[in-house]
Amino acid sequence: MPLAIEAPPLHTLTVAGRDERFPVYRVFCVGRNYAAHAREMGKDPDREPPFFFMKPAAAVVDAASPTSVPYPTRTKNYHHEIELVVAIGRGGSDIPVAQALDHVYGYAVGLDMTRRDLQLDARDKGRPWEFGKSFALSAPIGSLHRAQDIGHPSAAAITLAVNGQPRQSSDIAKLIWSVSECVAYLSEYEALQPGDLIMTGTPEGVNAVVAGDLMRGEVQGLGTIEVRVTS
Ligand code: MN
Repeated sequence: MPLAIEAPPLHTLTVAGRDERFPVYRVFCVGRNYAAHAREMGKDPDREPPFFFMKPAAAVVDAASPTSVPYPTRTKNYHHEIELVVAIGRGGSDIPVAQALDHVYGYAVGLDMTRRDLQLDARDKGRPWEFGKSFALSAPIGSLHRAQDIGHPSAAAITLAVNGQPRQSSDIAKLIWSVSECVAYLSEYEALQPGDLIMTGTPEGVNAVVAGDLMRGEVQGLGTIEVRVTS
């Protein structure tokens, strides 16, 4: 059957060392998944159940090679959040923690770019976070490394520098909710689908960038991403 309008674009990510690309369906993001970041956001880092928000597939920017993102409209406080990104290759509901990694296609380093002023204003008014979190081009993500090639990292340095100056530095071993636990928990609420991404949360040190800044993010073993902010 013909489409009434032109189909929206498919958003895809580079797969390291391969000619095929990973099609993105949805992007789930975990909030406050490192204790020191929860504290810097003024929240108690006790191990409450994880919570999630979403970005549209159109938020994804392929950052397999150096790229840029425009400074977004309607903000004066545009923040970087460096994160471990998990790609789901096999869907499922009510996935047990012990089997969760079987559903993971691979891993990448990514940025959950945030209009912090809009996010906090919404948070404090009890409103949804979309304008702060879910805007176009807000998720630059590097090459996906397949689990069948690299395994499942549980400890690795995660860092972000801006213009060469260190801003964020932690280890994915400090995730409050592990990758397995995030996959299992999320799958109790929403059937996971191949193509889903999970951004697992950012460590402490989030801060603002301005037009002209160069962000360089790394998760050890997953390579680096370089993203410049343009005006
Ligand atoms: Mn985040």
